[in-house]
Amino acid sequence: MATKALIGQSKMLIDGQFVAGESTPLDILNPATGEVLLKLPEASAEQVKQAVAAAEKAFDAWSQTTPKDRSLLLLKLADKIDEHAEAFARLESLNCGKPYPAALNDEIPAISDCFRFFAGAVRSMTGALAGEYLAGHTSFIRRDPVGVVASIAPWNYPLMMAAWKLAPALAAGNTVVLKPSEQTPLTTLKLAELLAEIFPPGVVNVVTGIGETVGASLVAHPGVRMVSLTGDVATGRRVLEAASQSLKRTHLELGGKAPVIVMDDADLEAAVQGIKIFGYYNAGQDCTAACRVYAGKKIYDKFVAELSDAVKSIKVGAQHEEGVEMGPLITERQRARVASFVERAKMQKHIEVTVGGHPMEGKGFFYEPTVVAGALQSDEIVRREVFGPVVSVTRFSDPEEAIAWANDSDYGLASSVWTQDVGKAMRIASRLQYGATWINTHFMLVNEMPHGGLKQSGYGKDMSMYALEDYTVARHIMVKH
Ligand code: NAD
Repeated sequence: MATKALIGQSKMLIDGQFVAGESTPLDILNPATGEVLLKLPEASAEQVKQAVAAAEKAFDAWSQTTPKDRSLLLLKLADKIDEHAEAFARLESLNCGKPYPAALNDEIPAISDCFRFFAGAVRSMTGALAGEYLAGHTSFIRRDPVGVVASIAPWNYPLMMAAWKLAPALAAGNTVVLKPSEQTPLTTLKLAELLAEIFPPGVVNVVTGIGETVGASLVAHPGVRMVSLTGDVATGRRVLEAASQSLKRTHLELGGKAPVIVMDDADLEAAVQGIKIFGYYNAGQDCTAACRVYAGKKIYDKFVAELSDAVKSIKVGAQHEEGVEMGPLITERQRARVASFVERAKMQKHIEVTVGGHPMEGKGFFYEPTVVAGALQSDEIVRREVFGPVVSVTRFSDPEEAIAWANDSDYGLASSVWTQDVGKAMRIASRLQYGATWINTHFMLVNEMPHGGLKQSGYGKDMSMYALEDYTVARHIMVKH
């Protein structure tokens, strides 16, 4: 299909109208070729104000709709996404460079399911009992929407992040101004077409542009009551500082550096296959990527050898290549950043890059799937988020050491433990300071369960009933008899 036809609608959505941005045009790229797909103008400051004003105007009526009515619209949206699954997946893979089958089979079903989950969840919220806590008075709790939510998304899973942000916010009765990443706005703009068909004007608005201008204006706007950001830790800090000026509620999903503890008694084949998938999925551009392995001393050598063989076999290529397992990085800048981490790691005498370690020749922003063995806990490659197809492996000598090293991190999003001893797995899982711990797997998410971090990985939960709590406020109503 011609690129133009595939991209389709590329205007912003403000108050039910499709409008072109009036500010600086930004290049939107195909990361597999480096080619410019289109030039997309940013929203002007005035357009950001219009979007927030539209969301403010729509809030009163929308917040008073019943959960059932909101639920029906979310279900309609989920059906429409499924109906257009192939077009969404084609566009997502074009703009992110990710393999088309992964976008189609892994992402789109989870995205429509997210809207379906919140359609059901908002009709079944539960809470504290009403009662006479003061004689002659009845008290009860309401959970009401917060108001206008500014939702700011990253580039790694653009449509999924839009779903994680829109579904609980809308289900709870908030109105939203959504800003996709300046690098990957295309599927969100396509989604805007469906949103405009289904939701009343102003309930959801989509504006495009970079963080420092459009994102920052949203965060500073007095009409915005809550800011939901998924992005880098540094961005989280900036958003938090700006939001503090008006004491806005914030919901921050930031970076990660997931520890993966492979015990001496692990099913080695399963661990190797698991890390081959979960360390390199989406070219490692995933906040939960299985990127920081601690392997027991008895299995360390065998594990490194087998992991290196497995990683060597990962098929890297463009979106529609037969059997492709891994695509490019999102930009040349991101590739250079990943390469510089690996170059600095190589300078350490104790480190051995057993596979990969170089940018790939030719067009696009491809980087070889890489294993960095012999890494020490103090090494940069173990401590900092690389956000690329690079997995470090560190040898540990006893479980206490592995737990201490796993927890010795600024991040706290995701972790996993690989062992065949259930008791050991439970004991270790209970001590890991991470929002999620998987046992004998990694990376698996379901809409019923919360996703979110501790420490500098942020706070606030995506998915699950916990997200509905985050996008609502508890209010006390008291009646004097
Ligand atoms: P980023 O922080 O550069 O950008 C994220 C979003 O924030 C973009 O829309 C950007 O325009 C906006 N932004 C940037 N500066 C801003 C500012 N000053 N004010 C308002 N908005 C601003 O992140 P990215 O490079 O797009 O994504 C990668 C990062 O996201 C990684 O660190 C990754 O770990 C993290 N991430 C976290 C999760 C999670 O669930 N915890 C999920 C996906 C990605």
